[in-house]
Amino acid sequence: MSFRRLVFLGTGAGLPSPTRNVSSYLLQFDDNQTFLFDCGEGTQRQFFLSGSDGVKAVTEKLGCGSARVSLNSIARIFITHLHGDHVFGLPGLLLTLSTQWLSQRKGKGDLSTRPSNSSVNVGEAAGSFPFEPFSETSEFLEIAGPVGIAAYLRTCLSASGATHLGFRYRCTELHDIAAPLIENSLPPPNSASAAPLHMSEAPTVALGFNEGEELWSLDSGGGSHVKIHAAKLQHRILCFGYAVQEAPRAPKLNSALALALGAKGAQLGELRRGVSVVVEGGDGCSIGSEKEGTCAVRIITPEEVLGEPPPIRTALLLGDSVDASSESKVGKPCAFLRWPPARQASVLVHECTFCDAEEELAAPKGHSTARQAGKLARELNVRRLVLTHCSQRYQPRTSGEEGLAATERLEKEAREEFLPPKGDQHAHGEGPLVRCVEDFESVDLSFP
Ligand SMILES: [Zn+2]
Ligand SMILES: [Zn+2]
Repeated sequence: MSFRRLVFLGTGAGLPSPTRNVSSYLLQFDDNQTFLFDCGEGTQRQFFLSGSDGVKAVTEKLGCGSARVSLNSIARIFITHLHGDHVFGLPGLLLTLSTQWLSQRKGKGDLSTRPSNSSVNVGEAAGSFPFEPFSETSEFLEIAGPVGIAAYLRTCLSASGATHLGFRYRCTELHDIAAPLIENSLPPPNSASAAPLHMSEAPTVALGFNEGEELWSLDSGGGSHVKIHAAKLQHRILCFGYAVQEAPRAPKLNSALALALGAKGAQLGELRRGVSVVVEGGDGCSIGSEKEGTCAVRIITPEEVLGEPPPIRTALLLGDSVDASSESKVGKPCAFLRWPPARQASVLVHECTFCDAEEELAAPKGHSTARQAGKLARELNVRRLVLTHCSQRYQPRTSGEEGLAATERLEKEAREEFLPPKGDQHAHGEGPLVRCVEDFESVDLSFP
């Protein structure tokens, strides 16, 4: 699973407006699976709108291609914190996911055998739905978030008469205590958590942080080899940022060299998988003969024909936070600053609720300015900084001159702090290093 892109469904802070929905975005992988980060009110409608002509017109204007995304592509859900603008859309989204799954299964059989169709949504085109319907042995839809997320969902679903879903879900709750992983245990954050499990809920996993690291290590699940860590952020309630490390990628085979050495057909695949092969003669013989080039057989080892494995990339996806840089006078430096894989991360997604002129509002409300986001981006030496969670006073760039000016101002203030390493400006593929995004905008992450 390698990063493909981020798709932003909601980029506004606090409450929805006609031009920005509240927080939600997707990290999309090359196998079309996506991780959903936050799910503010109206997120599922943003999913449905993502394929519309109106949205296409906007994304064409932004030059970022189609933003079309599908609910069915969601493999995991991560909630940064329980403020309404990040979580009020989640119960409804689960119900729609359940309805879609049940009707598709009833009408068309298992989605994994459904013919793919290039005109359908990206997630549907993948041809599989990751969760089996309600069964004791099935995989769960994993939902990670701060302690309280399980009780929140249980209460919303049960109180609204949604007695069961088409699949089982399981919450992993991040606790702000130095405690080992405790399976099947839910220390009650409040009275609601004492309610019995929802019909479709697997017992909650309670997770404390790794002592010394101040990071929470989440199980990647499903054998995907993606690694996920969380770090606490300073906000008005318990809030987290997530680091997603993609799975190791296979090194590239130098096919021309392998062929020149005598490898044929299926042997190329074996070399790709790291297996040595025996070939007849060929250039550079090293066994079976004293004289180079005259032997009958030769062994080609993977080391001879495989390049270096590509580096494992990291995406840093932060929730609401006061200035988390080490220079912060108002907040606590983010634990990712002390965690080596966060350095040179492919992308840092950071809130930018305010600009310099409103800086005095930021810390008391638990938020940051674009400049403060730029400082953290510089300290982490990330490859790209994406600004989101903008105060609704800042219109998006496609809304007109005022929006364009506001967006450029936020980007400029962040850029003044986040100066990329000299000469590195063009090493990241196409696209700007600092981008203040709007709804339906996507950010390419397919660069090396
Ligand atoms: Zn928020
Ligand atoms: Zn918040």
